Amino acid sequence: MDYKLAFQELEKMGRDGLSASDLIDLKGTGGLTYNDFLILPGYISFPADNVSLETKLTRNITLKTPLASSPMDTVTESEMAITLALLGGIGILHNNCTPEEQAAMVRRVKKFENGFITDPVALSPEHTIRDVVDIKQRLGFTGIPITQDGSVSGRLVGIVTNRDIGFREDLDTKLEVVMTTDVVTARHGVTLAEANQILRESKKGKLPIVDAQGNLVSLVARSDLLKNRDYPWASKHPQTKQLLVGAAIGTRSNDRERLAKLVEAGLDVVVIDSSQGNSSFQIEMIKHIKATYGDRVDVLAGNVVTRDQAANLIAAGADGLRIGMGSGSICITQEVMAVGRPQGTGVFQVSQFARKFGVPTIADGGISNVGHIAKALSLGASCVMMGSLLAGTSEAPGEYFFLDGKRLKKYRGMGSLDAMERNDSDNSGSQARYFSESDKVKVAQGVTGAVVDKGSIKQFIPYLITGLQHSLQDMGVPHLSELWEMVESGAVRFERRSAAAQIEGGVHDLFSYEKRLYK
Ligand code: IMP
Repeated sequence: MDYKLAFQELEKMGRDGLSASDLIDLKGTGGLTYNDFLILPGYISFPADNVSLETKLTRNITLKTPLASSPMDTVTESEMAITLALLGGIGILHNNCTPEEQAAMVRRVKKFENGFITDPVALSPEHTIRDVVDIKQRLGFTGIPITQDGSVSGRLVGIVTNRDIGFREDLDTKLEVVMTTDVVTARHGVTLAEANQILRESKKGKLPIVDAQGNLVSLVARSDLLKNRDYPWASKHPQTKQLLVGAAIGTRSNDRERLAKLVEAGLDVVVIDSSQGNSSFQIEMIKHIKATYGDRVDVLAGNVVTRDQAANLIAAGADGLRIGMGSGSICITQEVMAVGRPQGTGVFQVSQFARKFGVPTIADGGISNVGHIAKALSLGASCVMMGSLLAGTSEAPGEYFFLDGKRLKKYRGMGSLDAMERNDSDNSGSQARYFSESDKVKVAQGVTGAVVDKGSIKQFIPYLITGLQHSLQDMGVPHLSELWEMVESGAVRFERRSAAAQIEGGVHDLFSYEKRLYK
């Protein structure tokens, strides 16, 4: 038998599966979501760890991984934003707080340098040993830089370590008496490797970093040496090398003042946070941002789920679009408003349209596993945005608590009454996303709940990344940047999944099982 006939036969019969357009075809049975379809396997000729996940977040911002965190007060504050950016994604800071608090979060991310403590505790020569003892008890460290005025950015005049205060009994002794004034320092701009070298050679515990005028900039601690690791994929501004960060705002007039503060703090991308983005208010806000800040900040507009909505925001100047209405895990928008769209269809229709104008899209909400990320990207999104998937990690705001023997963290919709009550006084933040000023009755669009402890995103994000690389490998797609082309040309094929097929595709017919996802 001539086995080459296999190719001829294949050509005759045609390829298996559906193209993405045929899959989503609206004349069919209505909208689809991620669980409604699968991607058929392609041809593997490359190792999974060679798969590049580089992608666009907006017109001007490129990331090494397609991962963003939701602007929600149980998901993204500075710790999440810093760690996610280090790992190659980006955090979008929530706005359910005052503009000053949100700007402080932006500043914390922008000031972060891996291995450098950028807001060290400092004291002045006028402080006493009692203050040092107090800090040691509260925060657990000594090795405190002393500045002229006691401020973090004041002129460095000395350092106080355990050795300086060890045998002193008089707690009221001023630090000017005991501090070491002959301080080993390094100049701002020194690399972490150089700073580490200086610490090793000088055998000191702390190395203050100073600017040309001798003002304190940051501190490197010997005890942190081992903890420092390299983050080759970190999302950084190409010029300043600072971590990238986004923040959410609303569309009211006072959001313009909020934005001014965020931009001053160094914001890279602003997300106009609205559950239905196709409004005159949002269009005005996009125009204002583009006219006022030009290319300094990119605008991610939304949310949208239809081409009509997308066209308005693209025409107004949006640099990226956020897609999703009602798909979020905590969301009751579809139930209450009867408006929304299944996420798979929304992502495909908007992304296919926006790509014609070079506008990247983010699939926002409804991502509950790695497969969903791969599916969102295969339908045309450049990035995904996650809330519930990240809410249980240690970098998310809030404390863990126990319920029925499970370690949990609170997770709530920004349109839940709970979240909206947080800012009742100034009617800012999530109030603005879900209410009109004139509303007499608050209608919730989200719920309050809890999610299971997921540990640190330092382990969880690498799991998502590796899983995604394997998924693309199975599709036969060597780089994320080639995925859309291969989908559009029909090279990547899809198939609908019946209810029975969905059961078959999950774990089934076992008496019991344990689901461990990564190690
Ligand atoms: P998740 O990843 O499925 O948990 O969805 C997170 C997304 O849900 C967010 O990025 C928001 O777009 C959306 N969202 C947040 N709060 C609410 C709410 O209260 N109602 C509806 N949607 C919400």
